[in-house]
Order: sequence, then structure tokens, then C-alpha cells
Amino acid sequence: MRMNEHNFHASDAREVLNSLGSSEAGLSDAVLEEKRRQHGWNEIPEAAKMSWILLFLKQFKSLLVFILMVAATISWFTDHEVDAFVILGIVIINAIIGFTQEFRAEKAVASLKQMLVLVAKVWRNGELVQLPARELVPGDIIFLEEGDNIPADARIIESNNLRTIEASLTGESLPAGKNPDTLPVGTLMGDRKNMIWKSTFVAGGTARAVVTGIGLNTAIGNIAQTITDIKAEPTNFQKKTKTLARQMAIFAISFSVALFCVGYFIRKMELDEIFIFTLAAMVSSIPEGLPAILSIVLAIGAWRMSQRKAIIREFTATETLGAVTTILTDKTGTLTQNSLTVKRVLIQENNEYEMMGEGWHPEGEFMRDGKAQDIAGDQALQKLLSIAAFSNNSGVRFDEKKGVYEMIGDPTEGALHVLARKAGINPKKQDAVKKLYDLPFNSVNKFRATLCELSDDGKSRKEIFVIGAPEKILELSDKYLKNGGAADFDAQAKQQIQNKIDEWSDSAMRVIALAYKEADAGASSVKEEEINGLVFAGITGMIDPPRPDAREAVLKCREAGIRVIMATGDHIKTAIAIAKDTGIIAPGEEKKQVALSEQQVAALSDSEFDDAIMRISVYARLSPNMKLRIATRLQEMGQLIAMTGDGVNDAPALKKADVGIAMGIMGTDVARDAAQVVLADDNFATIVSAVEEGRIVFANTRQTSFFLLTTNFAEILTLITTLAAGLPLPLTATQILWINLVTDGTVGIALATEPGHGDVLKEKPIRRKENILNLSVLPFLLINALVMTTLALIAFKYYLPFGEEKARTAVFLVLVFTQIFNMLNMRSLKESVFKIGIFSNRYVNIALLLSVALQISVVEIPFLKNIFRLHRIDITELAVIIAASSLVLWGSELYKFATKKFRKTNRLLKG
Ligand code: ADP
Ligand code: MG
Repeated sequence: MRMNEHNFHASDAREVLNSLGSSEAGLSDAVLEEKRRQHGWNEIPEAAKMSWILLFLKQFKSLLVFILMVAATISWFTDHEVDAFVILGIVIINAIIGFTQEFRAEKAVASLKQMLVLVAKVWRNGELVQLPARELVPGDIIFLEEGDNIPADARIIESNNLRTIEASLTGESLPAGKNPDTLPVGTLMGDRKNMIWKSTFVAGGTARAVVTGIGLNTAIGNIAQTITDIKAEPTNFQKKTKTLARQMAIFAISFSVALFCVGYFIRKMELDEIFIFTLAAMVSSIPEGLPAILSIVLAIGAWRMSQRKAIIREFTATETLGAVTTILTDKTGTLTQNSLTVKRVLIQENNEYEMMGEGWHPEGEFMRDGKAQDIAGDQALQKLLSIAAFSNNSGVRFDEKKGVYEMIGDPTEGALHVLARKAGINPKKQDAVKKLYDLPFNSVNKFRATLCELSDDGKSRKEIFVIGAPEKILELSDKYLKNGGAADFDAQAKQQIQNKIDEWSDSAMRVIALAYKEADAGASSVKEEEINGLVFAGITGMIDPPRPDAREAVLKCREAGIRVIMATGDHIKTAIAIAKDTGIIAPGEEKKQVALSEQQVAALSDSEFDDAIMRISVYARLSPNMKLRIATRLQEMGQLIAMTGDGVNDAPALKKADVGIAMGIMGTDVARDAAQVVLADDNFATIVSAVEEGRIVFANTRQTSFFLLTTNFAEILTLITTLAAGLPLPLTATQILWINLVTDGTVGIALATEPGHGDVLKEKPIRRKENILNLSVLPFLLINALVMTTLALIAFKYYLPFGEEKARTAVFLVLVFTQIFNMLNMRSLKESVFKIGIFSNRYVNIALLLSVALQISVVEIPFLKNIFRLHRIDITELAVIIAASSLVLWGSELYKFATKKFRKTNRLLKG
């Protein structure tokens, strides 16, 4: 273990910096290249994947192959050598198909992993930048704050109340305090409080640290395990599909046994003939392609979701999303754009400014009555701006390439930083105020505080600057800033400010209050308990416009039978205003009670609570705990919950939800790690797209399974009827295997790619326990299987006088072409294929061409024709067979038409 050679914990932070060839300003590009050459990238190679040879061999490890091998052996010893070779050939082709499918699925998973890149905040060339964590090298200085995933092993240089969760290393799930103090050499790893370890998380506080180890050369690297791994445990869905496959296999075996009995005992056929026939029939009716095709359905679903900006971390979520009945969503950043801009400032009860300028651009005038004001003389305003600038961990920088300002940090703080910059206060470029200690914002306290040292005229004193939710700050203040000094807060002034807060909140503004208090000269830190007796400095009102597509997405949810609940930490009036804008509160509802604050919820009795959460869809000033309570209760009431979250405190709720959704941009690494889905664009509309894809996944699963079931059923039905009617065998073993290969292999994959037909969001959510196969398929299945069987029998009877071989060829072609037509049926179980566009799916077209070409070659190429013992068929005969086979399509179209009519009348009668 190389890290033991170094005792970074036993040296002073400066010494560590020196020994790693770094400095306070971070590494410079000049030394970077050399470091990279020496240390490589900060990544842990993935556990060796299954090699492709093993993956190929895995395909032979199944009961099916075993049965086929037995069949081949029997064929060999009963003088059916050709059949033996054909069966072997088919086993190999099947393995190749299974292999390609699994290979594709695995590649899809691998590409999803690449989308979840961890980033680190690093000082490079004296500037704080964000980089992919893999680019770190020893000596890099990193900045960490609440919720961050620690990107490398590092020695703390400076920390503020830092606590980390090291569960991934030590199994200890409680946060541990950290600080920069130097420790004795013999300190054990778990006690090295001045070190932080890769792949653990920051639970709270901030720190600056110098990277000491990267990649495999870290504590976690030694146990070679990564946190960002996509979890691939056997899922509920996989269990469901396993059951399905088993059911189908049982079905196949019992029919085969029946077939054997009829042939051997009633028809008195030769044992070897009926035996090999039965085996082949059994094999043909087992849906061997099913598991592989279903994993493809899921992989395609997950891939499509990623194209629509929802990245799946756990494959179950792909299917669960389709069954979601309630979405519990954040407001800020999800329904809104998260580009906060301060529009109004109020100091004292009546000193109000209106702000110019848009977005993160740090320029704009302070206006009053439509005129730009000179604000240099407004002492109280200057105080407020100073608090805004220094109790703040964000910044903006000009992106040369894009030509716009970008914000780094929390958007609320970003807005305040921009406000201060508009008045010419840049915290980076002055030395009148020095930050000593920072108590970062958290959504339980709803404020942040910073201990600062102020120096004017050579004198210095200390103050605590506080920023937070206005009610909270009002409550903690007993004085307010008036004419440059602190005056006692009287009830009237308080009321006037309160009115302003209400007024601004009503117009969808996020209101933030700013305050300060004197601190002892000896103070070096701030505790939460000390935040009281504040001097109220003023309020700011910032806008955060709703996302343009939020409203449409909310309406889509309503149509799709999904309830949207907004859970926000913001003010109740702001919450209501945004809920109205986005349609969460429908126009008619204003008169009723539409929103509750956490306080109001907490005061409810159990039954009132149940009633409220079923009715009311906007929750304000909510803490993560209450969010968890609401979600849990809704789950108990039978709802399937998708929930968004971004903070450290949201992690338990994200784990608890049926589908936890984390923000890709604003979210913390902790939240992302707890979630099953990550939104690459933080957008509410993306959740709705993911739900849509989830429903398509379920529909495609159904369609492919129904397809396989129908064709298997038709084949076995044909065999049994001919046998029972005393006719010769309508198909040889190898012909059956061929049909099975063509249908399962070519056509099944094509069906797995159906893109959905714009209607999945118009239906009710899929029930959680809904089986893939249910009775609704029965009429469809019977109609199709009966048409197929009847056609096959007619063809057989008609051609029998021309010889058995010719008659079998006709049956063979009928079954093959009815299946090809049936593929078109199964593209949608409800819509006419002509409505969704008969050639609208490229993969289906390819499958169509390919399978038609394969059938023609097998009857036309003499070599293949002999192997499969088929007979030549001329073009008119082929045309007739194809035309007759299309009956399967017409039959289903008729059925779809009739059921649609029926549903419509039913709706009319009910509605
Ligand atoms: P949400 O993001 O859902 O609106 P939060 O829990 O993040 O809710 O914030 C709750 C309230 O705390 C906000 O309405 C605001 O008043 C205040 N607040 C949010 N972020 C900050 C911050 N960085 N600094 C100070 N106060 C904040
Ligand atoms: Mg927030």
C-alpha cells in the first residue's frame, strides 16, 4: 500500500503542500504534464468485464441447448445425420444471436456509466475551476462543500465545520468531524481526522485540501470498488420475466408430452420418429429468445431515456417509471430555471430600489421612480450589499467561448453576489472585509452565516453576517438598520416589512433577508445557537422564472393520470404563484385551500393529514423530513412515488421513493448516489419523458412476449391437430427449428425497438403488480393462433395429394409468413398498424426484408432446400400463400377496430 509510505497526516499542511510541489494557488499548467505522466489519471479501472469468448460460451449454458444436443445425438444414431448437423448449426446461430444481444445490452450500460461524470472544484493557475474528477493529480488543491463526493484522497489545509460520511470505506454511516490539525505518526487510518478519502461524502461544512493520492493509489483504490457503479442487482422486473419464461416453458413441455402421447400411443408411430419430433416441438414452443430480448427492451429503454436527458443508474427504474402515479417535485431549478436575479431591494421599511440587468451578468443600475440612483451615500444599502457579498460562497466568471457569465455555486447566493457586483463590490478584489468562518446554508435552518473581520481606518472588529428565509431572520432579529444605525424593531416597522415580503412573494419572487450582529473580538467560529439578536438589514426579492416547458409537462402528467405535488423550501406565496404558472394549481381551484406550509401540516391530526395529502398539491417551507413523511404515507396509501431531491438531507427520501430522481446539475453527489435516475438537465419535463419511455418499455415487453406466445401456440396447435386427425406430420423437426429461429431472432428484436405511438401518456399508469401476460391478451392470442392454424391445415390438406414434402413446404411457408404479418400486428396492441405507419419503424422494415429474403432462399437455393427437405414452389403459389397469410393482419385489424369502437361507446355511456 503506497499511501502508507507517506505520513501526510503527521506533517503540517504547508509541508504536505511543499512536498507535493504545490502552493496555495494550486498547480499550474507548467507542472501538470509532468505530474500526469508520473501519476496517470484519477480513476479506478473497472472490475474485469466478462471477455467476449466467455460471453459467447455462456450462451451454451442452458437447458435448451442440452435438449437440442440430445436431439442431435438421437438424430445421428437414428440415421438422420443431416438433421443432426442442422440442429448443431441452429444451436450455433442461436448462440450468436444471444451473444450479440447481450453484447449490445452491455455496451448500452457502459455508455450510460460514462454519462455520470464526477466533477471536482480545483484551484488551477490561481483560479477556482470545475474539472472532471479524473483529471486530478497529487498536489491539486480542491474545494469541498456539503454534499460533494470527495474526488481523491487529500490532506485538509483549512476547514469549516467539516463532517464527512465514510460509510463506503468504513461502514460507519454517521458523519465524522474533520479538521486540519496535525496528528501523531502512528494514528490509524480511521482516526486520521485531517485526511479525507476518495469516494466518501461531505455531510456538511466546507474545506480546502491538497490531493495526496489518486486512482488506485487511494484508500478506496486499495479495496478497488467504485461508488458510481451502475447497480445491477437482479430486479423485480427480471424476476417477473423469469416467471414468465418459466410459465411458458411449462406450457411448452405439457403440450409436447401430449403430442408424444398422441403420436406414440394413438398413432403408433415409430419411437425414434415421434421422439425427435416431440423434442423439436418442445424446443420450438419454448420461447428461448425471451430473456435476451427482454434485456434488450430494457437496455433500449434506458438508452432512449438517456437521449431524453434522464440517466438511469439502476435498470429497474426503467420499468418502474412507467407505473409512477405521483411525482413529488422540487420547485427551484426543476420547475423553474434556477437563474435567479434580484429585482428588488428593501432597506428599512420604505427605502426600496428596483434592479436593472438580467441573469448572471454583474452589471445593472439601482433605480427608483424610473431613475438610476447614486447609491454611494446610502449607508444602510451599502451594509446590506456587504452582507450579500461576503456571506456567500458563489461567484461568476465570464466564459470567453460562450460569451456569457456563468455562475459557480448556489444560485441564491449567485444572485446576491451579482447584486453586490452591480454596486461595484467584488469580494475577491478588496481587503476591507475578511471571511473567518462560514456556516453554510442548509434546508433545515434555512439560513447561512459568516464570521467576518472588518477593518476601517486601521481599526478592526468582527461581525456575523446572516442570510436566509425572511420569517426566520425576522424572528431572530430585535433591531433593524435605520439611517445607518441599529434601531429597535417596533411592531409597525416589522409589519411593514412583513407586508412587503407577502407582496413580493405573491408575485412569485423568492424573498431573502439579510442581517448581522457584532461578534466578540476573540471569536473564531460561529455556532447555530449564536444566531439570534440580529440587526435586520433588509430584504431582496429575486425572480426565478418557470421553465418554458414545465406547464406542458404538468398538463401531460394530468392526462397520464399522474399527480404532481410540489414540495419546496420556499415561501408559501411564492410556491402558490409558481404552482399557478405551471398548472399544478388549476385555474378553478384558487378559491379553495391549495397549499400548506410545514407548520400547518405538522399541526394536522393523522386523519386530516391523510385527507390533506390526497387533496393538496403544494407544500411550502418544507423540510426534507416532512417530505419523507408525505412520500411514505402516500406509498402506504398505494401510490407509486417518483421523487426529486438535491441536497444531502434528501438522500433518505430518494432512497425511500419508488423512483428517486436526483438533479444532475444542481444536485449534490450524495443525492445522485442515492437516486436511481439522474436528470442531466434538472428539468421537470425530463421526468415526464422518462415516464413515457418507461411505459413504452412495458408495452414493448408485452408486445414481444405476446408475439412469441402466439407463434409458439399456433405451431403446437397445428402439430397436435394434424396428429389427432391422423394426417402425416406437417413439419419436420428442422423446419420447426428454422421457424423458431427466424421469428424469435429476427422479428423479436425488431419489436423491441418500437418507439411507442404517442398515446402511452394518455392512459392510466400501469398497475404496480401488473403481470406481463394477462387475460387481456387472450382474445388477441386466440384469434391469431386460430387463423394461423386454420390456414396451415388448409394448405396441408390441399397439397397433400402432391406429396408430403410439398405439403410440408406449404405449411412451413404459411407459418413463416403469418408470423411476419403478426409482427406488424404486435407493433401496437391497440392502434391499427396503418395508423402508426406500416413502414415507420426502420428496424421492423429491416427485419421484414431480412426474413422474407431468408424464406425465399431456403425454398429456392437447392442446397438449403435439400437440407430442410423443402419442395420447390412457384411464384403464383407463393403469392397465394402470402396473400392468404395476410389474413392474420386483417383479422387483428378488425379486432383492434372493434375493441376501439367498443371502448369509445363504453366511454360515452359512462361519461
Ligand atoms: P427550495 O430550493 O425548494 O426553494 P430550500 O430548502 O433550498 O428550498 O430553501 C428554503 C429557503 O431558504 C429559501 O426560500 C430561501 O429563503 C432560503 N435559502 C435558500 N438557499 C439559500 C442560501 N444559499 N442562502 C441563504 N438562504 C437561502
Ligand atoms: Mg434550494
